[in-house]
Amino acid sequence: MTEWFTTQKTIVMDRRKLLAGLAAGSVFAVSGCTTNPVTGRSQLIMVSEGQLAQLSASSWTQIKGKERLSRDPAYTGRVKRVAPRIVNAAGLGNKPWEFAVFDSDQINAFAMPGGKIGVYTGILDVMENDDQLATVLGHEVGHITGRHGQERYSQSMLAGVGMQTASVALASNDVAFSNELAAILGAGISFGVILPYARKHEYEADRVGLQYMARAGYDPHQSVRFWQNMMAKNQGRQKPPEFMSTHPSDSNRIAQLQKAIREMGA
Ligand SMILES: [Zn+2]
Repeated sequence: MTEWFTTQKTIVMDRRKLLAGLAAGSVFAVSGCTTNPVTGRSQLIMVSEGQLAQLSASSWTQIKGKERLSRDPAYTGRVKRVAPRIVNAAGLGNKPWEFAVFDSDQINAFAMPGGKIGVYTGILDVMENDDQLATVLGHEVGHITGRHGQERYSQSMLAGVGMQTASVALASNDVAFSNELAAILGAGISFGVILPYARKHEYEADRVGLQYMARAGYDPHQSVRFWQNMMAKNQGRQKPPEFMSTHPSDSNRIAQLQKAIREMGA
């Protein structure tokens, strides 16, 4: 919990005053612009990973209540095999993780702050090998270490969306408020999972994910093959697969991946 949320009057500041405070440098004495150690990029971060994890916890519970867990070891075994290698490669092996495989045709996968990873059997059917699963898990964990959720959330706070209530709920450090807060932000189950990230975040997660998969001993070139297969899956469909709707892909994304692989010397 940062001082900003608990002690300063900014909780009830209007947006104009907040921006003035920002300009004067008085508001974000504790939380604010920080350099991300993984990406080296400076980010505006007004919410901790722990706070975001609290908010995401209800989404995770909702998803688990809605979807059927797979008991098929052909699927669960793959995730159990690959996911720990990726989180270890990300230096997060000491954190508690929960991996779930959902028995559903949905072509989807996600990772949430607080260490929740969900993979649908639909997307596992698209993946030709463990390297391609490592591509997706590396990318998703890259969103977490890239602090993309925290950044997006901070931007929406700065935009004045539910500013007052958001601050009070976070200051209370009370999980009971998190549902309320998520509803105010129009997020609910979408929060951190379904809303598409900005393109900049997608490319960054791709780059970070490539590092993780390579470090874990997987072949980064398989990421290109995976996204090509996903693009082919998308063709002729009325509605894109879920993962494609939150991860729009085109030849530019593939080109960026290939460039990143070359730069890695892989
Ligand atoms: Zn993504």
